[in-house]
Amino acid sequence: MELYDSTIREIMLRIGSHEPRRWPYEPELGWQDVGRNELVLAGDAAYELGGSSLPACNCTCVTTGAELVPADEVLLIGPDLGQLHADAAFARIAMLHVNAISDDDQEAFRTIRDMEFVKYHIHPKGYMMRISPESGREQVRVSKKALAQGISFRSIGNSFIRKYKENKLIDHVRIIFVTGDWTLCRDLTSVTKRVDAITLTLNHIMDGLSTDCSVCSFKPVCDEVEGMRELHFKKGAAPSKL
Ligand code: SF4
Repeated sequence: MELYDSTIREIMLRIGSHEPRRWPYEPELGWQDVGRNELVLAGDAAYELGGSSLPACNCTCVTTGAELVPADEVLLIGPDLGQLHADAAFARIAMLHVNAISDDDQEAFRTIRDMEFVKYHIHPKGYMMRISPESGREQVRVSKKALAQGISFRSIGNSFIRKYKENKLIDHVRIIFVTGDWTLCRDLTSVTKRVDAITLTLNHIMDGLSTDCSVCSFKPVCDEVEGMRELHFKKGAAPSKL
């Protein structure tokens, strides 16, 4: 599983110079999960991450490269939840190191999708995520009450990691939050769109659709991502590693 590796490296390079704050995984610090999508009304919200048409992106990158995600950790660039006072640009990125993935391409693809869908099963109290699969945006309304109770990215990041680690295939999780930095969030938006494009292309390949690159709309992705084209042409022959 190397399809997302160059993207992981690029993201780490982009955020490296911003000296992110880092916290190790401490499951007991995870924020209370209410088990369903909780409505935070506009009047109860202190602000919205990605609100007011500001950048708001997210993505999930899966790798079998242990060196790329060697530990469970939460990273933050920009102000923490308690330091924000108005809508802000926002990015959230999950990097997952998986210890084993099926040799069967279809099963491996399903596993990736399942991991990507974990974001729809996290419901922190007073932290209402609104994720659009079409636009790739992730906006979050944060309630005044949750802020008064001390909600932070450290606690939300721990909630995410705790949920991901319910899947025994996942060894390590890195959750990255970026707030306030419009330029960085905009740049990360283009990176997260590429991650979406890789996953869409995988979808095309797994559906067994056309292998004529000259007319394929996914060609730009396959030109850029190492291993993608091989995956399509090997499909149907010997199982190929995603
Ligand atoms: S390998 Fe060719 S046909 Fe297959 S998805 Fe890529 S560009 Fe399209």
